[in-house]
Amino acid sequence: MYDCIIAGGGPAGLSAAVTLNRRGKTPLVLTAGETLLRRAEQVDNYLGMPGVTGAEMMDAFVRHAESLGVEIRAGRVGNILPFDGHFMVNADGDILEAKTVLLATGAARSTPVPGEAEFLGRGVSYCATCDGMLYRGRKVVVWGLSVDAPHEAAFLAKIGCQVTYIAAKRPEELADGIRFIPGRIAAVRGEAAVTGVEAAGGVVETDAVFVLRQSAPPDAILPGLAFENGAVTVDRACRTNIEGVYAAGDLTGTPLQVSKAVGEGLTAALSIVEYLDKK
Ligand SMILES: Cc1cc2nc3c(=O)[nH]c(=O)nc-3n(C[C@H](O)[C@H](O)[C@H](O)COP(=O)(O)OP(=O)(O)OC[C@H]3O[C@@H](n4cnc5c(N)ncnc54)[C@H](O)[C@@H]3O)c2cc1C
Repeated sequence: MYDCIIAGGGPAGLSAAVTLNRRGKTPLVLTAGETLLRRAEQVDNYLGMPGVTGAEMMDAFVRHAESLGVEIRAGRVGNILPFDGHFMVNADGDILEAKTVLLATGAARSTPVPGEAEFLGRGVSYCATCDGMLYRGRKVVVWGLSVDAPHEAAFLAKIGCQVTYIAAKRPEELADGIRFIPGRIAAVRGEAAVTGVEAAGGVVETDAVFVLRQSAPPDAILPGLAFENGAVTVDRACRTNIEGVYAAGDLTGTPLQVSKAVGEGLTAALSIVEYLDKK
């Protein structure tokens, strides 16, 4: 049982992990992929580190956390279930347990397509390893927008789903035998549940669609999370509306900057320490 599972290994998540570690707590950082900061050619506004590239800055953050012994694992958090005063966290099919959770998954930059929010939980899913079993032997569409989507598609094929993969370009890693349609999904169709998706100028019949973006909306990971203007609502202590769940960084809204992410990571970690010590 970890003291805190941190979803996201960007500046906010690593900042929180360092503070939790220094305060004698056990954080686990789960991170789905590289932070977008690595794409920054030059970062000039972070105090004390002028002129570094985003990649150099991230390498320094990771080195710092790892030098303290912070555990950082590759893994996409698919869903979080509050259970008996703690949390069950599904990361790529592994179930992990923690007393608290910190959401630091960065800004959700995409807007849902028509029908996506309406059919969430009724055929629309953001996590193949969480929901794949429900569609064993049935037709599923994977909309591959993240780097690990071909692996999720392979998992679905392996458990017996009839998989159609939709993406702008066929990924090299996509397993032979998985049907591929070039393009994007324009809308999700259905009645009581999903019946198809609009793509490539037609309708592809399906029982489920797995929308695999680089970053899933946080309320899809943890239903019931409060939002305001597309950002997770937090108070000044980075507490969300769900007890034991905290949020920090770009996903709490503007300014979308490293300093703010690092500061909120610290604030969230101190709130978590206080919460754990009181418990
Ligand atoms: C090109 C570019 C240039 C920029 N330049 C600057 C600059 O000069 N100065 C500045 O201050 N800011 C800059 N920024 C903004 C800065 O990168 C962000 O504000 C900062 O990275 C936010 O940190 P974060 O930890 O909140 O989120 P992120 O850095 O986005 O990290 C989130 C992490 O969570 C992971 N993740 C997502 N979903 C999940 C999941 N379900 N499970 C597990 N992990 C998940 C992601 O893979 C990612 O690694 C720039 C951004 C870009 C894209």
